Amino acid sequence: MAQNSARPVGRHFLQIPGPTPLPDRVLRAMDTPIIDHRGPEFAKLGKKCLDGIKTIFKTTNPVIIYTATGTGAWEAALVNTLNAGDRVLMVETGQFATLWKRMAESIGLKPEFIKTDWRIGADPAAIEDHLRKDTRKEIKAVCVLHNETSTGCLSPIADIRKAIDAAGHPALLLVDTISSLASTDYRHDEWGVDVTVGGAQKGLMLPPGMSFNAVSDKALAASKTSKLPKSFWSWDDMLNMNKQGFFPYTPATQMLHGLVAGVDMLHEEGLDNVFARHDRLAEATRRAVRAWGLEIMCKDPKYYSPTITAVMLPEGHNADAFRALALDTFNIAYGASFGAYSGKYFRIGHLGDINDGTLIGALGITEMALALAGIPHKKGGVQAAMDYIVSAHAGPKRAAAE
Ligand code: PLP
Repeated sequence: MAQNSARPVGRHFLQIPGPTPLPDRVLRAMDTPIIDHRGPEFAKLGKKCLDGIKTIFKTTNPVIIYTATGTGAWEAALVNTLNAGDRVLMVETGQFATLWKRMAESIGLKPEFIKTDWRIGADPAAIEDHLRKDTRKEIKAVCVLHNETSTGCLSPIADIRKAIDAAGHPALLLVDTISSLASTDYRHDEWGVDVTVGGAQKGLMLPPGMSFNAVSDKALAASKTSKLPKSFWSWDDMLNMNKQGFFPYTPATQMLHGLVAGVDMLHEEGLDNVFARHDRLAEATRRAVRAWGLEIMCKDPKYYSPTITAVMLPEGHNADAFRALALDTFNIAYGASFGAYSGKYFRIGHLGDINDGTLIGALGITEMALALAGIPHKKGGVQAAMDYIVSAHAGPKRAAAE
């Protein structure tokens, strides 16, 4: 019987690449009375959050916390650093890069878009090449996504920084880490990023509705001469109030309680272990996809995403119909496909509070759903994923025993 025709039994498999399932500990941290957001108890909470979040971005500079989804933090990054008519360089890695470009246009910037077929990340050499041609140094910012959530391609931010430097170009570097932060290594300061845009609802394991700008000294200097209209997004008021642990407006207090729990959980696991877990689950997923004989959307392994794998379906099979069948029958939600690839792939999210067993469950459901949908594939994807996970655990265990 189809799942939706009766009470859904057991737990829902939320395998979209964010929002991710909320850990009980985060939920419990949020389940607490509201406090006065101008009182001393709040100041302690605010400071704890503002300090704690820096350790996730790996920065000693301020991180601004907005009560807004990631899209708001995109806008904040642009309107605080740039001026009307500024040229900005962006890379068309997929749907989210396209949306950020549209936003840039709508607020009066002039984006230049390096095209891709949506199946790779941002190529540092292409960025360097484009910047070298800008001999008058008119491009004011390079805006890239660390992880393109719509396709499952990760871009090499440290190498992009090097490419900008190699071109001798003064452009700011603005990076979206919404679907990579707290899931894979990211170093705002060391990599010389000027504004890092983050979101709460993925690796940080919080509900949607909170986002971040980590800022460099160069970005702060640019904000002094930036004249794009801004009020809610203005860094100035935020930074002033944040010094005492307060916000210029009524902050999302419960989300901040959740943030303390999320950051604590990440450090208790150890950030390097968090990253290794995501790498392991991503590789297990890719092995399952290959064993099924299906194609991974990201076509160059050097851009593989640690947080999401997009799976192409064979010609003649519609991925949206497949997702609907899987949801109806097995209570699993996958991510959709976009643009020219609409209906051609589905996305498996493997980020946030997810472990080996959850992933194997999701892959088992996927293998059953492929069979039920009559999509040509080979058996053994789940076995390949399990074998990989066992070998990934056996390696370190053996090394520790020796
Ligand atoms: N950028 C990336 C990489 C995303 O994955 C998303 C959303 O999933 C966004 C931006 C937009 O964020 P939001 O939907 O929180 O506004």
